[in-house]
Amino acid sequence: MEIIAQAKEMQRRAEQLRRQGMTIAFVPTMGFLHEGHIALMREGRKRADSLVASIFVNPTQFGPGEDYTRYPRDLQRDFKLIQGAGVDICFTPSAAEIYPDGFQTFVEVERVTQNLCGISRPGHFRGVTTVVAKLFNIVKPHCAIFGQKDYQQLITIKQMVKDLNMDIEVIGMPTVRESDGLAMSSRNTYLNPKKRKEAARLYRSLLKGKELFALGERSAATILQEVKRIIEEDQGAVIDYVNICDAHTLEDIEEIKGEAVIAVAVKMGKTRLIDNIILKEE
Ligand code: AMP
Repeated sequence: MEIIAQAKEMQRRAEQLRRQGMTIAFVPTMGFLHEGHIALMREGRKRADSLVASIFVNPTQFGPGEDYTRYPRDLQRDFKLIQGAGVDICFTPSAAEIYPDGFQTFVEVERVTQNLCGISRPGHFRGVTTVVAKLFNIVKPHCAIFGQKDYQQLITIKQMVKDLNMDIEVIGMPTVRESDGLAMSSRNTYLNPKKRKEAARLYRSLLKGKELFALGERSAATILQEVKRIIEEDQGAVIDYVNICDAHTLEDIEEIKGEAVIAVAVKMGKTRLIDNIILKEE
């Protein structure tokens, strides 16, 4: 596996691959990898001749007081994991490489970033779309693979690619979960054993919501009440949001028609966890 830290060098390699007629699949990550990331890489391996993964903890998507400096990092461990997943090139730039002095251009997607994490993390999606647009220009992929765990991020990137005519197929992959249902996340390492056990209730609450929908309930308020009740049984859990939104526009809805998503963000102590589940007629 090649490890590249310079944007220019990555662009040169990507151009070389393209000239050889090779297709490129790309999986951007912030590292501290787990099975969720590896599943995206396996999919990428299947979809293209060449697989590039990036590891970059992107400062512009963290707000003041968020966990940028303490975000878990272990590059040596990550290199071993991604090599096992069949990655050909790992792009690991420094923050100064991506945001050199004088940097002043940002990409902003409007409507789909306004609800949910757009409210609790102002500027977050601006940082995400800016870095992903830059990574796309550096890695020059034919397709890029993202997790549905970050559902609003996936929708936002699809919108950016469409609006800016980026010639890249964006693929969303299902959330990989621990055996008790907790969505895998690099941030789960922040949880102490007691909170880690309690965290499984997030997915249980979403499953309950989905069950009510399957039984015919279409009132968002009724479903949300039950989802919140299950989360709040844990006295230590502080709900940031629990919403039911249109699965495409991410606007809140009262009556579920077509495809919807239940999206949750919960703080367990200092750790903020997100998860979601799709509701659609079978
Ligand atoms: P991150 O390193 O958290 O920025 O995530 C990098 C990519 O992995 C994003 O596309 C995430 O949506 C995806 N991802 C993170 N956790 C999971 C998971 N549990 N299952 C599937 N994909 C995930």
